[in-house]
Amino acid sequence: MTNTQTVEKPKVLKKGMLDNVLEQFNSAADKIDLNNNVRKILSITNTEIIINFPVRMDNGDVEVFTGYRVQHNNALGPYKGGLRYHPTVDIDAARALAMWMTWKTSLAGLPYGGAKGGIQLDPSKYSKGELERITRRFTYALGENIGPEHDIPAPDVNTNDQTMAWIADTYMSTKSTSERSKNQHVVTGKPVGSGGLEGRDRATGYGVFLTIKFWAEKNKVSLKDKKFIVQGFGNVGFWAAHFLEGEGAKLVGVQDAFGSIQNKEGINVTDLFNYGKANKGSIVGFPEATEMDGKEFFGLDCDIVIPAALGNQITKHNAHTIKASLVAEGANGPTDIEGEKILLERGITIIPDIMCNSGGVIGSYFEWLQNRNGELWQLDEILEKIEKKLKTTFLKVTDYSEKKEVDMRTAAFSIAIERIEKAYILRGIFP
Ligand code: GLU
Repeated sequence: MTNTQTVEKPKVLKKGMLDNVLEQFNSAADKIDLNNNVRKILSITNTEIIINFPVRMDNGDVEVFTGYRVQHNNALGPYKGGLRYHPTVDIDAARALAMWMTWKTSLAGLPYGGAKGGIQLDPSKYSKGELERITRRFTYALGENIGPEHDIPAPDVNTNDQTMAWIADTYMSTKSTSERSKNQHVVTGKPVGSGGLEGRDRATGYGVFLTIKFWAEKNKVSLKDKKFIVQGFGNVGFWAAHFLEGEGAKLVGVQDAFGSIQNKEGINVTDLFNYGKANKGSIVGFPEATEMDGKEFFGLDCDIVIPAALGNQITKHNAHTIKASLVAEGANGPTDIEGEKILLERGITIIPDIMCNSGGVIGSYFEWLQNRNGELWQLDEILEKIEKKLKTTFLKVTDYSEKKEVDMRTAAFSIAIERIEKAYILRGIFP
């Protein structure tokens, strides 16, 4: 491909996560002088699916839901990325999250592209039976738009191994009996015992912890007695906190969708998890901590901030209040462009999402391989494999960032984009 045409930067109509990911992409693309034709391809998504589908509720009424699946790019392999169930899911959110998946899988050196989707709903308002029917009907409606060698969903916000089991079962049920089992890897993040990977539950949080540990080793700081706060105490936040606590670090603040709590002396991670489980998933009211104003959460006195919930949480409104020296992005897109600028100007290090939370999709890759090859691996070998892959990525990113004197996000984006650029240049464009 030649690099003759100039390409206009895509116009963004609505400020949000899509705006952020495009700005991150364009800024890295400018720095690496990305081939203009490749820039055109990567600036837009390949396929966008919006499905309105009816589901019968427990009371006999029918409700119509809107589900999304956006496939951004598959130059490096099948589309890969989660499905989230949340009121904020819309086409722009799915586009942004799909793009982040492309950079994430490319950076991790996986043979995948990027996709994302979900359903716009608040799952706490539905019974388990309703959620099962919603999930199965959406899977059926997606039909051949997903597939084990085409587009492989996984858990994300408010979806879990149970959701994946329903999807796998529904998808496999549409195949002839002899074809069923070879379609098991249509989704990853399935329950152990039903094609799932030992340790996939903790893979993302473990990865967040590992990137913090690598950073600490590199900077010769000990994690013992370091204070950290976590936004989001779901799968990612809990496991990251669990592993950090194991190193002697102290959890001093937690925020979830229901409220915020703090304790300078430290919060026991397992106790809080058990409390949340018994308290409809909410941390509010935990007896060994005090409630606090959510607006002041990021300003808590600590060394490490782990946003592990939704996008656009660290912004110009709170970035100046952060006292920590490290922000480890467990969520996708938790820091917006203005927030990031403030953090970097203040000398705060950001471990970017596409590296920090990539333990999840790395775990997914191992599950996919395991299903494809009919193998079963042990927990310790899986955690070791995740650590090895993440360490390689971490060293690549820190090396690049030092050599080119850029922040870690720019380094991570540059490495990810250059890998895809290379694939396009080598294979060209059909016809
Ligand atoms: N939802 C996770 C993410 O954002 C995992 C995706 C996957 O395993 O495909 O990275």
